Amino acid sequence: MKIVVLPGDGIGPETMAATMEVLQAASARYDLGLAFEHDVAGHASLQRHGATVTPALLEKVRAADGLMLGPMATYDFKDEAKGEINPSKFFRKELDLYANIRPARTWTGLPHKVGAFDLVVVRENTEGFYADRNIASGGSEMLITRDVVVSLRRITRECSARIARSAFELAMTRGKHVSIVHKANVLKLGDGMFIDECRRVAQQFPEVNVDDFIVDAMMAHVVRAPQRFDVIVTTNMFGDILSDLTAELSGSLGLGGSLNAGLDHAMGQAAHGSAPDIAGQDIANPFSLILSAGQLLAWHGVRRERPAFVAAAQAIEQAAAAAIAAGEATRDVGGRLGTAATGRAFAQRLAQR
Ligand code: NAD
Repeated sequence: MKIVVLPGDGIGPETMAATMEVLQAASARYDLGLAFEHDVAGHASLQRHGATVTPALLEKVRAADGLMLGPMATYDFKDEAKGEINPSKFFRKELDLYANIRPARTWTGLPHKVGAFDLVVVRENTEGFYADRNIASGGSEMLITRDVVVSLRRITRECSARIARSAFELAMTRGKHVSIVHKANVLKLGDGMFIDECRRVAQQFPEVNVDDFIVDAMMAHVVRAPQRFDVIVTTNMFGDILSDLTAELSGSLGLGGSLNAGLDHAMGQAAHGSAPDIAGQDIANPFSLILSAGQLLAWHGVRRERPAFVAAAQAIEQAAAAAIAAGEATRDVGGRLGTAATGRAFAQRLAQR
């Protein structure tokens, strides 16, 4: 499996270095034959190539079996004409990575803010309220007059149906329960269509229980009783917001794994951003990126029918749990180690399994 590695901005280089130690240990222990191709995106690429991402990089990623993308300083990138492209959007759009899978669970040894839970947010990743990706060319946020902006939100039957299918297929491997999150009381057409498509797909999965929640009320439900949820399917921006909440409820935003998957490509990417407030201090939590790397291995293993990859992914999840319980983690989750030492300890734990 060839993986392109792009460390990203802010805390990215630190958390990616820790993740690389873990992937190398997993490759050796499970005989995965992982090969890494290191390159740059974000500020480093802007300095070197005049753009945060380049067509040559896209081709490299297309030819590989997977991508590990570090967090990007997206807020800094304002003008695509100056090469300031949001790399996250770029890969999601160009590779049609339509399903953003964001698991969140509580961990033994880490105090629960809201009781134990284990859920997955399945977020549509290619349209919705993301003005930079839902039309073919340009952006769909428009300055109508100096004082008026219109931002378009796109919802299609096709994208709604395919994300629903991802959610129901996932639910069949878990608790057989899908919750649809929407705002159909206000966005009656768009979210009405989203619910219709989810319910239509649900008919092909009669074993799966389905319910639905209006997104604002969902915030209360998920804080009050997250254990009642299994798989949550929702549109792009709602999923972005909800999954940060569920990651933080699980103990820290730094624990949120995230896989962006399409039919032919997948990208592991931390759920959090570049965290400039803590960059360069060796305190960033690398678990989000490590768990995302595990998700990438699992995706490859299922797709290519290679059980060793699925076993390695499970081992990474189990090692994360054991590391957190042993305090071999960063301070934000009650641990006693820095970022680099957390990666090293994690790799040793995997090697000893
Ligand atoms: P952020 O997610 O970077 O940080 C939010 C808070 O969580 C900060 O207090 C930060 O210190 C903390 N945090 C984040 N990751 C952590 C980790 N691994 N360990 C410990 N603490 C962690 O959000 P922000 O500060 O609003 O955004 C910073 C930059 O990241 C912006 O440019 C934003 O656009 C970008 N961003 C990128 C992505 C992405 O690349 N996928 C996602 C979100 C935000």
